[in-house]
Amino acid sequence: MKIARIAVNYPLKNSGLHYYYEGSLSRGQVVDVPLGKRSELGCVLSTDESTTAVEKETPLDKIKKINSLLPDWILDEEELKLFEWMSQYYHYPLGQLIFDSLPHHLKRPRDLHQIEGKKGEPEFSPNVHQKQIIESIEKDLNHFQRHLIHGVTGSGKTTVYLELIKKTIAKGNSVLFLLPEINLTPQFISTFEKYLDVPILSYHSELSDSQKYQIWMTARKMDKAAFILGVRSSIFIPISNLGLIIIDEEHDTSFKQDDRCPYNARDVASKKAQLLGIPIVMGSATPSLESYYTFHQLASHLHEMKERAGNAFLPEIKLIDAREKSEKEDDIWPLVPQSLEAIKEAFLKNEQVLVFVNRLGFANFLQCRSCGHQFHCPNCSITLRYYKKKNHLACHHCEYKEPLPGQCPSCGCLTLNQKGFGTEKVQEVLERVFPLKKIERFDRDEIKNFKQLEVRLSDFHQGKIDLMVGTQMLSKGHNFEKVKLVLVLGIDSQLNFPDFRSSERVYQTLTQVAGRAGRYSQDGKVFIQTLNPESSLFQIIKNHDFHRFYEDELEIRKICECPPFKRLAMLHFSSRFQDRLISHVTSKVSSLIRSLIQHHFKEVTILGPRPAHIEKKSNQFTWSILLKSSDLGQLHNLLKSFEMNYQSESSISHKIDIDPYTLI
Ligand SMILES: [Zn+2]
Ligand SMILES: [Zn+2]
Repeated sequence: MKIARIAVNYPLKNSGLHYYYEGSLSRGQVVDVPLGKRSELGCVLSTDESTTAVEKETPLDKIKKINSLLPDWILDEEELKLFEWMSQYYHYPLGQLIFDSLPHHLKRPRDLHQIEGKKGEPEFSPNVHQKQIIESIEKDLNHFQRHLIHGVTGSGKTTVYLELIKKTIAKGNSVLFLLPEINLTPQFISTFEKYLDVPILSYHSELSDSQKYQIWMTARKMDKAAFILGVRSSIFIPISNLGLIIIDEEHDTSFKQDDRCPYNARDVASKKAQLLGIPIVMGSATPSLESYYTFHQLASHLHEMKERAGNAFLPEIKLIDAREKSEKEDDIWPLVPQSLEAIKEAFLKNEQVLVFVNRLGFANFLQCRSCGHQFHCPNCSITLRYYKKKNHLACHHCEYKEPLPGQCPSCGCLTLNQKGFGTEKVQEVLERVFPLKKIERFDRDEIKNFKQLEVRLSDFHQGKIDLMVGTQMLSKGHNFEKVKLVLVLGIDSQLNFPDFRSSERVYQTLTQVAGRAGRYSQDGKVFIQTLNPESSLFQIIKNHDFHRFYEDELEIRKICECPPFKRLAMLHFSSRFQDRLISHVTSKVSSLIRSLIQHHFKEVTILGPRPAHIEKKSNQFTWSILLKSSDLGQLHNLLKSFEMNYQSESSISHKIDIDPYTLI
């Protein structure tokens, strides 16, 4: 009998377990193996291992035999290499990573509904500037190269993408297009299906297991060009003849996975392109600081599109000082008269309006007027949010809900003040002020699937809705012809958020939101209601001065030793027992890391441990340690040594987050 090394779907620190097998077995094959008293899936890493080498790790009599092979289920070399790289880079167990990322294996999957492109001729052709960009990227269509298109909203990035896609398809190769948001899928499909004449596959979380599995198998066996469009996880689809990867809105936080392996699909895509020897094109109106910085040093691969294409214009941005407000305006809070006036004017001109609010619900929290009592989630260290229509208080981190209390539980006072606001509150105020207008919401509470999305968007396009109050969901990608006014509320809370990326996030959000206004006319306007009108960030946004934003922000990042100048890693430790967690992290963990730094990794600095911004979530307490270094190699080696020397405790779990998006 021969021995194979297999990455088993289990949180193991090392790279694989040994198993006996008979007959032939190849690297990449998926097998079923015994693990303790149960069985698990595994992926073969190597076969025919030398007995003497294996013996050093595992006594031969402890090695078990594999149960069975899963027919048809084999990963190719590039897929495995990508997973191996990810496992090393993100310090995440290989077997677990592979089986987290693959769709569930099905014996009898149903047929897949496939869209065929209609091969229409575009009614627009690239302008001179777009042509230059297409030509310069086209030179790299045969090998690995990275390009970034930094184009203001409405500058016509899609036109550039479309030409590059057509050129790749003409060579017989497939294209993978990554989207930041599942809700944009229908819109992009309808754009691309008009002009392409290849099968189009879309991959997202609304698909069933059977559909996902079918896409996987179809893409793997594809013998002609296809266009595959999907969200983050589609980066793992094995596409047999892939020739180009495009990532739209590369800065978007949705490319970063939070749970399980915290990978960034943009960075994984870049590695995938490198492994396959194909180009990757990223696009954004507001590139991440990291990408902007990297591509400035690779100037010939940075393509700037500073003007809106065709007859489109950039909107005028106006700051509304929300501090000046008199008492009689209380019934219109959180809006101010100037904002209502602007909406009224837009309605008089038969225009539609968008109002952007960054929070859901009616009030952020309730507070007793006499004793100040607040309602906290029993499972999380945060206050409950008030939802008026549902008449309850709910936690936005766990499933906890409770009916709206009639009085304060600690003093019996009947007056509970509402603090803060969300989309529901803004909708109610606007409905009261404009009773004859149809005012709807566009947020996660109201729109839960493609059908609802389609109905709401089509109602808006047909003019059945006059104004939409929406969250982030509204800010991304959608184009509305009859909208000239966009009003932004509640952005201050985002600006004051204690995180190194908060300015970047506000800049990105506002630029995206502004991108919804007046694309089709000369008098588009964005009104930002704020308590900090003097903030230099707002002044920069007002002037559409993105270079100034990047320069200022890079200065700050340099001073605070944040990316792109330093690389970061966060270590999170969680437990149901707060005291055990604190003593474990502050003594054992902290001293292990400090001693490793002192003896071997002097280029790394440690900050913390400290409690997470929300210390308790769903009854789990979390404490974190931040590591910074300008030497990425040292940072990774420190983490590797830590993993080797760390003795975990049964009630405490830990997680490593490389290149974290946020430090809280
Ligand atoms: Zn009270
Ligand atoms: Zn909760």
